Amino acid sequence: MRVLVTGVAGFIGSHLAERLISGGNEVVGVDSFFDYYPKRIKENNLKRLLGESGFEFIEGDLAELDLNSLISRVDAVFHQAALAGVRSSWGGMFGEYVNNNVLATQLLLEASKDKDLKKFIYASSSSVYGDATDFPITENSPQRPVSPYGVTKLAGEHLASLYYTGYSIPTVSLRYFTVYGPRQRPDMAFHKFISAVMNGEEINIYGTGEQTRDFTFVSDAVTANLQALESGKPGGIYNIGGGSRIILSDAIKIIEEVTGKTANIKYTDTQRGDAKHTFADISKAENDLSYSPSVNIRDGLSKHFDWLLENKELYDQAG
Ligand code: NAD
Repeated sequence: MRVLVTGVAGFIGSHLAERLISGGNEVVGVDSFFDYYPKRIKENNLKRLLGESGFEFIEGDLAELDLNSLISRVDAVFHQAALAGVRSSWGGMFGEYVNNNVLATQLLLEASKDKDLKKFIYASSSSVYGDATDFPITENSPQRPVSPYGVTKLAGEHLASLYYTGYSIPTVSLRYFTVYGPRQRPDMAFHKFISAVMNGEEINIYGTGEQTRDFTFVSDAVTANLQALESGKPGGIYNIGGGSRIILSDAIKIIEEVTGKTANIKYTDTQRGDAKHTFADISKAENDLSYSPSVNIRDGLSKHFDWLLENKELYDQAG
């Protein structure tokens, strides 16, 4: 099978493309190298893929490429491209979020009409729920994002559902709950925490540290995509969590154990746009996709740490 992976130079997209290639598929990967974080990091993410004969890389913005001919060449779409940071979605950059998360998704869906795709899988987010009050969160829990980023991800998801009902594009939306592991975006918490502990720097915790999170190891998120390709119900929406919930301060303790160093924690104000707690009910994905997260937080953080240790120079460079 030949598939399209958008956002292929990113954290999740690069892992997904590698798994697809190792499963014998051909991958056409698109990325605009949006400068939300340094290009050298994204080039590093692509390094293994570029040596694969089944991989073709197209550098470009989805808004500018000929998506019709691109999608005519593939059997399925994994749409991972987006501006993914929560905090910078407030203020002046919001237009970029609309362009890359909403408009690009609409263009891709529009080009997918009448193309006989096996699936169009959309990378959605737990941020669509905002500050949930009942746990665990099911797919039917209220969707009230607390960040402009969450609003754009929810808009993309609604578009996917609309193109399923309007044009029978077999869309599946996967609501990832905080994904971590090797290549995690440098703006994300575990990357920052592990790096700070490694370098003897302060860790900034927003709030009290008592917030809880459902963390998903990247290989589990990738597996969910492959399972969604095979057995996701067209029009379906699935929570993809890590299978457990952990208090942030306990996650820091695990980081201390894994790194063998003590964290120097500074508590600062809660950030606008951060959900207080996340905890996914994954029973729908278990039933329909046979999804079952297999990497626990300790093993996942250990792998994340090993990778940061091996790639320290990549992140130590300025800019
Ligand atoms: P990432 O920033 O590492 O990867 C996204 C990639 O998309 C980037 O390389 C970027 O250059 C590319 N891109 C953005 N706009 C583009 C466009 N218009 N055309 C072509 N390429 C474009 O982010 P990630 O953490 O790998 O996230 C992947 C997807 O998963 C995103 O859709 C994100 O919203 C979603 N998601 C991620 C998490 C997480 O914890 N990482 C959680 C929930 C949802």
